Amino acid sequence: GFKCGIVGLPNVGKSTLFNALTQTAAAQAANYPFCTIEPNVGEVAVPDPRLTTLAGIAGSAQIIPTRLTFVDIAGLVRGASKGEGLGNQFLANIREVDAIAHVVRCFEDGDVTHVEGKIDPIADIETIETELMLADLDSLEKRVTALEKKARGGDKEAKESLDLISRALTLLRAGKPARLVERKPEEERAFGMLGLLTSKPVLYVCNVDEGSARDGNAFSARVFARAAEEGAKAVVVSAKIESEIAVLPAEEQADYLAAIDLEEPGLNRVIRAGYELLGLITYFTVGPKEARAWTITRGTRAPQAAGVIHTDFEKGFIRAETIAYADYVALKGEAGARDAGKLRLEGKDYQVADGDVLHFRFAT
Ligand code: GDP
Repeated sequence: GFKCGIVGLPNVGKSTLFNALTQTAAAQAANYPFCTIEPNVGEVAVPDPRLTTLAGIAGSAQIIPTRLTFVDIAGLVRGASKGEGLGNQFLANIREVDAIAHVVRCFEDGDVTHVEGKIDPIADIETIETELMLADLDSLEKRVTALEKKARGGDKEAKESLDLISRALTLLRAGKPARLVERKPEEERAFGMLGLLTSKPVLYVCNVDEGSARDGNAFSARVFARAAEEGAKAVVVSAKIESEIAVLPAEEQADYLAAIDLEEPGLNRVIRAGYELLGLITYFTVGPKEARAWTITRGTRAPQAAGVIHTDFEKGFIRAETIAYADYVALKGEAGARDAGKLRLEGKDYQVADGDVLHFRFAT
């Protein structure tokens, strides 16, 4: 599955956020098989109100949301790229995730020590990014000599790699993350293979004081401005509030949220933003037994989308009976959509759209 790594300096609220995320998932265990893979890895349900609507129309007995994995990656401190703290372990963990949720401290609290001595979210972001850039510089520089040798020997692939690497090095030496490297679509694969930490998409999670959970504060405003400059995303959340909400029964959650003027838990925003950051979309399978959401990457074709459910669905794929979400809702279900000519028969080249309600036909 897809993984989002939670990173940040010590004492910014990473664990508080991670625990809230996984406790919320645990609280939903009644209709959702939650599993903790390791103490620092948790799967969370991706909140999607469309599922409830679909289940209502089809009279589905059960609702099964799709899931996203979060990994709490502790141990990043200044100097990590030089092996300080849990430096190397940290960098290895971060290599394995698909996107980064970077928690930034945007709350003041005299009782909670800040490792750098003062609250300055932009400086904190730069501290972390610097470590990641240094690690990337190091790993690229190590590769250059061997590649140059190969390139001189006429290795075409090595030549292309070197070209990509030298562009990445230029950026990194100028203090810019590798994700900004200009590259052609056909270079995308080679770029991915470089496994650069600063090539991963980033979501800034501004951990604000309880009073700012809805609108943010002056600190988070600076982070949002920074994110806009970088083409990154940012969300506001109060980890402390979320950790309190997460352990409440569903009925009480609504009252608590209303009391602090929030429409939904801030965690939902974090999860959805993480999902979008990864370029993920959702399709649905709907029947009397269950309404279920499935995750695919944008651009996935119908057979591969079917393969997410079962490899047999992909191998024996014949066609996908497809109804757009809006049609399904407007025409009150499959029968209505079929009568109105809104049930399409899509073949193996069809790129599944977000919200499609699908029924796969396959041969075994
Ligand atoms: P980590 O080191 O980044 O994982 O940080 P923790 O989640 O362990 O939090 C460090 C300390 O900050 C703990 O004492 C938390 O209770 C506290 N903390 C976390 N989030 C908030 C918050 O939003 N407001 C306040 N006042 N304290 C917080």
